[in-house]
Amino acid sequence: METNITKPVQVPEDYNYIGVFLTFACNLKCHYCINHFEQGIIKRKNISGKDWVRGLNRIISREDLPITLQGGEPSLHPDFIYIINNIKPDLYIEILTNLRFDIDEFKSKVDPERLRRDAPYASIRVSYHPEQMDLDETIHKTSKLLKANFSIGIWGVMRPGYEKIMSEAQSKARKEGIDFRMKEFLGEYKKKLYGTYRYSGVCDKKFRKKVQCKTTEFLIDSEGSVFRCHADIYERLNPIGHILSPDFQIENKFRDCSNFGHCNPCDVKVKTNRYQQYGHTSVEVKGIK
Ligand code: SF4
Ligand code: SF4
Repeated sequence: METNITKPVQVPEDYNYIGVFLTFACNLKCHYCINHFEQGIIKRKNISGKDWVRGLNRIISREDLPITLQGGEPSLHPDFIYIINNIKPDLYIEILTNLRFDIDEFKSKVDPERLRRDAPYASIRVSYHPEQMDLDETIHKTSKLLKANFSIGIWGVMRPGYEKIMSEAQSKARKEGIDFRMKEFLGEYKKKLYGTYRYSGVCDKKFRKKVQCKTTEFLIDSEGSVFRCHADIYERLNPIGHILSPDFQIENKFRDCSNFGHCNPCDVKVKTNRYQQYGHTSVEVKGIK
Protein backbone atom coordinates (compact mmCIF):
# COMPACT_ATOMS: atom_id res chain seq x y z
CA MET A 1 0.00 0.00 0.00
CA GLU A 2 1.16 3.54 -0.79
CA THR A 3 2.88 5.15 2.21
CA ASN A 4 2.72 8.84 1.26
CA ILE A 5 -0.84 9.61 2.21
CA THR A 6 -0.52 12.86 4.09
CA LYS A 7 -2.90 14.88 1.91
CA PRO A 8 -5.80 15.90 4.17
CA VAL A 9 -9.38 14.94 3.35
CA GLN A 10 -11.79 17.77 4.10
CA VAL A 11 -15.31 16.70 5.01
CA PRO A 12 -17.92 18.91 3.26
CA GLU A 13 -19.86 21.32 5.45
CA ASP A 14 -23.23 19.68 4.76
CA TYR A 15 -22.07 16.17 5.68
CA ASN A 16 -23.88 14.65 8.66
CA TYR A 17 -22.16 11.36 9.32
CA ILE A 18 -18.80 9.60 9.06
CA GLY A 19 -19.31 5.84 9.31
CA VAL A 20 -16.21 3.69 9.75
CA PHE A 21 -17.10 0.03 9.26
CA LEU A 22 -14.06 -1.42 11.04
CA THR A 23 -15.24 -4.95 10.31
CA PHE A 24 -18.41 -6.58 9.05
CA ALA A 25 -17.86 -9.54 11.39
CA CYS A 26 -20.24 -9.84 14.31
CA ASN A 27 -20.50 -12.14 17.31
CA LEU A 28 -24.31 -12.06 17.21
CA LYS A 29 -26.76 -13.22 14.57
CA CYS A 30 -29.79 -10.95 14.66
CA HIS A 31 -32.02 -12.12 11.86
CA TYR A 32 -33.23 -8.59 11.11
CA CYS A 33 -29.66 -7.22 10.91
CA ILE A 34 -29.57 -4.16 8.65
CA ASN A 35 -26.12 -5.23 7.46
CA HIS A 36 -27.83 -8.16 5.75
CA PHE A 37 -30.50 -6.10 4.04
CA GLU A 38 -30.26 -7.42 0.49
CA GLN A 39 -27.75 -10.23 0.72
CA GLY A 40 -26.23 -12.81 3.04
CA ILE A 41 -23.53 -12.21 5.61
CA ILE A 42 -20.87 -9.82 4.38
CA LYS A 43 -17.39 -11.32 4.24
CA ARG A 44 -14.75 -8.73 3.53
CA LYS A 45 -11.12 -8.21 4.54
CA ASN A 46 -10.13 -5.83 7.33
CA ILE A 47 -7.33 -3.34 6.82
CA SER A 48 -4.88 -3.17 9.73
CA GLY A 49 -5.12 -0.79 12.65
CA LYS A 50 -2.08 1.10 11.36
CA ASP A 51 -3.76 1.62 7.99
CA TRP A 52 -6.96 2.76 9.67
CA VAL A 53 -5.03 5.29 11.74
CA ARG A 54 -3.13 6.59 8.70
CA GLY A 55 -6.32 6.88 6.67
CA LEU A 56 -8.58 8.33 9.36
CA ASN A 57 -5.99 10.84 10.56
CA ARG A 58 -6.19 12.53 7.14
CA ILE A 59 -9.79 13.52 7.82
CA ILE A 60 -10.54 17.12 8.69
CA SER A 61 -13.92 17.27 10.36
CA ARG A 62 -15.73 19.44 12.88
CA GLU A 63 -16.45 19.16 16.60
CA ASP A 64 -20.06 18.31 15.83
CA LEU A 65 -19.15 15.61 13.32
CA PRO A 66 -17.34 12.68 14.96
CA ILE A 67 -16.18 9.55 13.26
CA THR A 68 -18.36 6.60 14.26
CA LEU A 69 -16.63 3.23 14.66
CA GLN A 70 -19.18 0.60 13.75
CA GLY A 71 -19.65 -2.69 11.95
CA GLY A 72 -20.65 -5.48 12.25
CA GLU A 73 -19.21 -5.34 15.73
CA PRO A 74 -16.24 -2.92 15.70
CA SER A 75 -14.58 -4.43 18.78
CA LEU A 76 -13.91 -7.58 16.73
CA HIS A 77 -11.27 -5.68 14.77
CA PRO A 78 -8.02 -7.02 16.27
CA ASP A 79 -6.64 -3.47 16.64
CA PHE A 80 -9.84 -1.90 18.03
CA ILE A 81 -8.18 -0.30 21.07
CA TYR A 82 -5.05 0.69 19.14
CA ILE A 83 -7.24 2.52 16.61
CA ILE A 84 -9.13 4.43 19.34
CA ASN A 85 -5.88 5.39 21.07
CA ASN A 86 -4.09 6.54 17.92
CA ILE A 87 -6.71 8.59 16.11
CA LYS A 88 -5.64 12.23 16.29
CA PRO A 89 -7.21 14.14 19.20
CA ASP A 90 -9.08 16.64 17.03
CA LEU A 91 -11.25 13.87 15.58
CA TYR A 92 -14.06 12.98 17.95
CA ILE A 93 -14.86 9.28 18.20
CA GLU A 94 -18.16 7.53 18.73
CA ILE A 95 -18.76 3.78 18.87
CA LEU A 96 -21.75 1.62 17.97
CA THR A 97 -21.37 -1.73 19.69
CA ASN A 98 -23.18 -4.70 21.19
CA LEU A 99 -20.70 -4.50 24.12
CA ARG A 100 -19.65 -8.14 23.75
CA PHE A 101 -16.01 -7.42 24.50
CA ASP A 102 -13.76 -7.37 27.54
CA ILE A 103 -14.80 -4.14 29.22
CA ASP A 104 -12.17 -4.42 31.97
CA GLU A 105 -9.43 -4.40 29.36
CA PHE A 106 -11.21 -1.54 27.58
CA LYS A 107 -11.47 0.45 30.84
CA SER A 108 -7.81 -0.06 31.62
CA LYS A 109 -6.57 0.97 28.17
CA VAL A 110 -8.94 3.74 27.00
CA ASP A 111 -9.28 7.18 28.58
CA PRO A 112 -13.01 7.95 28.98
CA GLU A 113 -12.31 11.59 28.07
CA ARG A 114 -11.17 10.42 24.63
CA LEU A 115 -14.71 9.26 23.98
CA ARG A 116 -16.61 12.27 25.21
CA ARG A 117 -17.94 15.39 23.54
CA ASP A 118 -20.70 17.91 24.03
CA ALA A 119 -23.63 16.14 22.36
CA PRO A 120 -27.27 15.30 23.13
CA TYR A 121 -26.52 11.58 23.19
CA ALA A 122 -23.85 9.18 24.46
CA SER A 123 -20.61 8.56 22.56
CA ILE A 124 -20.69 4.80 23.11
CA ARG A 125 -24.07 3.57 21.92
CA VAL A 126 -24.86 0.01 22.89
CA SER A 127 -27.40 -1.73 20.66
CA TYR A 128 -29.60 -4.02 22.70
CA HIS A 129 -30.82 -7.07 20.78
CA PRO A 130 -33.13 -9.04 23.12
CA GLU A 131 -33.09 -12.24 21.06
CA GLN A 132 -29.34 -12.48 21.33
CA MET A 133 -28.26 -10.51 24.39
CA ASP A 134 -28.81 -10.95 28.11
CA LEU A 135 -30.39 -7.77 29.49
CA ASP A 136 -28.89 -8.01 32.99
CA GLU A 137 -25.40 -8.55 31.57
CA THR A 138 -25.85 -5.61 29.18
CA ILE A 139 -27.05 -3.34 32.00
CA HIS A 140 -24.24 -4.53 34.27
CA LYS A 141 -21.51 -3.85 31.68
CA THR A 142 -23.03 -0.50 30.73
CA SER A 143 -23.24 0.55 34.40
CA LYS A 144 -19.63 -0.43 34.95
CA LEU A 145 -18.48 1.79 32.07
CA LEU A 146 -20.79 4.58 33.20
CA LYS A 147 -19.27 4.45 36.67
CA ALA A 148 -15.83 4.56 35.07
CA ASN A 149 -16.94 7.91 33.54
CA PHE A 150 -17.53 6.73 29.96
CA SER A 151 -20.26 8.46 27.96
CA ILE A 152 -22.44 5.43 27.27
CA GLY A 153 -26.10 4.63 26.69
CA ILE A 154 -28.24 1.81 25.34
CA TRP A 155 -30.39 1.94 22.21
CA GLY A 156 -33.20 -0.50 21.51
CA VAL A 157 -35.01 -0.98 18.23
CA MET A 158 -38.82 -1.02 18.39
CA ARG A 159 -39.11 -4.12 16.27
CA PRO A 160 -42.66 -5.38 15.64
CA GLY A 161 -43.69 -7.82 18.37
CA TYR A 162 -40.92 -6.65 20.73
CA GLU A 163 -42.58 -3.48 22.05
CA LYS A 164 -43.30 -4.91 25.54
CA ILE A 165 -39.86 -6.49 25.95
CA MET A 166 -38.14 -3.29 24.87
CA SER A 167 -40.26 -1.07 27.13
CA GLU A 168 -39.51 -3.30 30.11
CA ALA A 169 -35.82 -3.31 29.27
CA GLN A 170 -35.91 0.49 29.05
CA SER A 171 -37.50 0.85 32.50
CA LYS A 172 -35.04 -1.59 34.04
CA ALA A 173 -32.04 0.23 32.55
CA ARG A 174 -33.38 3.64 33.52
CA LYS A 175 -33.72 2.49 37.14
CA GLU A 176 -29.96 1.95 37.04
CA GLY A 177 -29.47 5.51 35.76
CA ILE A 178 -28.76 4.41 32.18
CA ASP A 179 -29.92 6.49 29.22
CA PHE A 180 -31.90 3.90 27.23
CA ARG A 181 -33.40 5.21 24.02
CA MET A 182 -35.67 3.67 21.44
CA LYS A 183 -35.15 3.67 17.70
CA GLU A 184 -37.84 3.09 15.14
CA PHE A 185 -37.49 -0.27 13.38
CA LEU A 186 -36.02 0.20 9.95
CA GLY A 187 -36.32 -2.37 7.19
CA GLU A 188 -38.38 -5.36 6.23
CA TYR A 189 -40.19 -7.68 8.62
CA LYS A 190 -42.72 -10.32 7.51
CA LYS A 191 -42.74 -8.83 4.01
CA LYS A 192 -43.67 -5.37 5.28
CA LEU A 193 -41.28 -2.44 5.07
CA TYR A 194 -41.16 -0.33 8.23
CA GLY A 195 -40.04 3.29 8.37
CA THR A 196 -40.92 6.57 6.69
CA TYR A 197 -39.14 7.07 3.38
CA ARG A 198 -38.59 10.21 1.39
CA TYR A 199 -39.23 8.61 -2.00
CA SER A 200 -42.13 6.30 -2.75
CA GLY A 201 -41.27 2.60 -3.27
CA VAL A 202 -37.57 3.34 -3.05
CA CYS A 203 -36.68 0.24 -1.00
CA ASP A 204 -39.28 -2.13 -2.48
CA LYS A 205 -36.94 -3.56 -5.14
CA LYS A 206 -39.76 -3.45 -7.71
CA PHE A 207 -38.00 -1.10 -10.13
CA ARG A 208 -34.52 0.17 -10.97
CA LYS A 209 -34.36 3.74 -12.24
CA LYS A 210 -31.52 5.94 -13.39
CA VAL A 211 -31.23 9.05 -11.21
CA GLN A 212 -28.63 11.43 -9.83
CA CYS A 213 -27.91 11.09 -6.13
CA LYS A 214 -25.92 13.18 -3.66
CA THR A 215 -24.99 11.94 -0.21
CA THR A 216 -24.26 13.65 3.09
CA GLU A 217 -22.47 10.62 4.52
CA PHE A 218 -18.84 9.53 4.37
CA LEU A 219 -18.94 5.73 4.56
CA ILE A 220 -15.76 3.65 4.67
CA ASP A 221 -15.85 -0.14 4.51
CA SER A 222 -13.55 -2.58 6.31
CA GLU A 223 -11.16 -2.58 3.34
CA GLY A 224 -10.84 1.22 3.36
CA SER A 225 -12.99 1.83 0.29
CA VAL A 226 -15.30 4.83 0.39
CA PHE A 227 -18.93 4.54 -0.73
CA ARG A 228 -21.72 7.03 -1.23
CA CYS A 229 -24.55 5.04 0.38
CA HIS A 230 -25.36 1.96 2.45
CA ALA A 231 -26.80 0.11 -0.55
CA ASP A 232 -23.45 0.50 -2.30
CA ILE A 233 -21.28 -0.31 0.73
CA TYR A 234 -23.13 -3.55 1.51
CA GLU A 235 -23.13 -4.62 -2.14
CA ARG A 236 -19.59 -3.29 -2.72
CA LEU A 237 -20.83 -1.28 -5.68
CA ASN A 238 -19.33 1.87 -7.20
CA PRO A 239 -16.66 2.81 -4.63
CA ILE A 240 -15.81 6.48 -4.96
CA GLY A 241 -12.27 6.21 -3.60
CA HIS A 242 -10.04 4.66 -0.98
CA ILE A 243 -9.02 6.19 2.34
CA LEU A 244 -5.36 5.23 1.69
CA SER A 245 -5.26 6.52 -1.86
CA PRO A 246 -2.87 9.54 -1.89
CA ASP A 247 -5.16 11.68 -4.06
CA PHE A 248 -8.44 10.77 -2.41
CA GLN A 249 -10.75 13.75 -1.81
CA ILE A 250 -14.50 13.91 -1.24
CA GLU A 251 -16.33 15.40 -4.22
CA ASN A 252 -19.58 16.81 -2.94
CA LYS A 253 -21.68 16.30 -6.03
CA PHE A 254 -24.58 14.43 -7.60
CA ARG A 255 -23.53 11.11 -9.12
CA ASP A 256 -25.35 8.90 -11.61
CA CYS A 257 -27.00 5.85 -10.10
CA SER A 258 -28.95 3.10 -11.89
CA ASN A 259 -30.20 1.41 -8.74
CA PHE A 260 -32.83 3.83 -7.48
CA GLY A 261 -35.58 1.49 -6.23
CA HIS A 262 -33.05 -0.80 -4.52
CA CYS A 263 -31.96 1.78 -1.98
CA ASN A 264 -31.12 0.84 1.59
CA PRO A 265 -33.54 2.15 4.26
CA CYS A 266 -30.65 3.88 6.08
CA ASP A 267 -30.11 6.22 3.15
CA VAL A 268 -33.64 7.25 2.29
CA LYS A 269 -35.41 7.06 5.60
CA VAL A 270 -36.66 10.29 7.15
CA LYS A 271 -34.76 10.41 10.45
CA THR A 272 -32.97 12.60 12.96
CA ASN A 273 -29.71 14.29 12.04
CA ARG A 274 -26.66 14.65 14.29
CA TYR A 275 -28.45 17.36 16.29
CA GLN A 276 -31.27 14.85 16.93
CA GLN A 277 -33.60 16.99 14.76
CA TYR A 278 -36.20 15.03 12.82
CA GLY A 279 -36.69 15.43 9.06
CA HIS A 280 -33.25 14.58 7.72
CA THR A 281 -32.54 12.18 4.85
CA SER A 282 -29.01 11.04 4.08
CA VAL A 283 -29.25 11.33 0.31
CA GLU A 284 -30.88 13.73 -2.10
CA VAL A 285 -32.08 12.29 -5.40
CA LYS A 286 -32.96 14.19 -8.57
CA GLY A 287 -34.02 13.19 -12.07
CA ILE A 288 -36.63 10.62 -10.92
CA LYS A 289 -38.91 9.79 -13.88
S1 SF4 B 1 -25.41 -6.98 16.72
FE1 SF4 B 1 -25.80 -5.51 15.07
S2 SF4 B 1 -24.31 -6.05 13.46
FE2 SF4 B 1 -24.42 -7.80 14.87
S3 SF4 B 1 -25.95 -9.17 13.94
FE3 SF4 B 1 -27.03 -7.88 15.46
S4 SF4 B 1 -27.82 -6.13 14.26
FE4 SF4 B 1 -26.22 -7.16 13.01
S1 SF4 C 1 -30.24 6.31 -5.48
FE1 SF4 C 1 -30.24 4.84 -3.77
S2 SF4 C 1 -28.85 3.19 -4.41
FE2 SF4 C 1 -28.45 4.98 -5.75
S3 SF4 C 1 -26.76 6.08 -4.75
FE3 SF4 C 1 -28.67 7.00 -4.02
S4 SF4 C 1 -29.14 5.90 -2.12
FE4 SF4 C 1 -27.62 4.67 -3.22
